[in-house]
Amino acid sequence: MTDIADNLALIRQQLAQARASYLATQTVTLCAVSKAQPASALREAYQAGQTVFGENYLQEALAKQQQLQDCAIAWHFIGPIQSNKTQPIACHFDWVHSVDRLKIAQRLSDARPADMAPLNICLQVNISQESSKSGASAQEVLDLALNIRQLPRLHLRGLMAIPAPVEDFDQQRDQFRQVRALFDHLNAHGLQLDTLSIGMSGDFAAAIAEGATLVRIGTAIFGARPRKPDNDSVKEGT
Ligand SMILES: *Cc1c(COP(=O)(O)O)cnc(C)c1O
Repeated sequence: MTDIADNLALIRQQLAQARASYLATQTVTLCAVSKAQPASALREAYQAGQTVFGENYLQEALAKQQQLQDCAIAWHFIGPIQSNKTQPIACHFDWVHSVDRLKIAQRLSDARPADMAPLNICLQVNISQESSKSGASAQEVLDLALNIRQLPRLHLRGLMAIPAPVEDFDQQRDQFRQVRALFDHLNAHGLQLDTLSIGMSGDFAAAIAEGATLVRIGTAIFGARPRKPDNDSVKEGT
């Protein structure tokens, strides 16, 4: 087995362990976060059975999609969205996790081709209230969700969050619990959300304990990221 195949096997085992330890009843989708990784690394993961991939940078993702056309991959866009990038995002992805304002959602809905299924959407929420981070605030997320639900070419699926990185397991759980509470609150208002996109390499066990249905894991699968390609960092920021 390759390193990537080994890592994937280990992560799958750890996900199963976390579900068992915390008596989790939800299924948990593993999204392999492949930003800054070459197409060959994604192909290795694909050959080891991984079919869901998350990408943060549009140009980089489109190039890899070209190289992996022969693979049946579900592509998730998880990076910051500039409004002038909504059209290609709406045409080339199955999911977008990083929607945090109505204008972006409207543009994605307008651009989603009629012959494709509605675009799956998660609203990104910012529960740690760090002004530097993207994400809608807990206060605005219900209104945002109710508005997005009206958009014809989107399917609102759930919430995504990237809490402040902390080492302590209980602190990690505390942060995820707030996202979960918001998720339950929206569902109490009839939103019928089924996706809680929380948990990364350093905190996925805590996320599963708090109800994660999708974890986004990069480093633990692919190893440390090589430096980001320069053209993307210049054009697309962060
Ligand atoms: C990079 C990234 C991840 C993966 O982070 P790791 O710590 O490498 O697992 C998950 N979610 C988002 C939004 C990211 O940008």
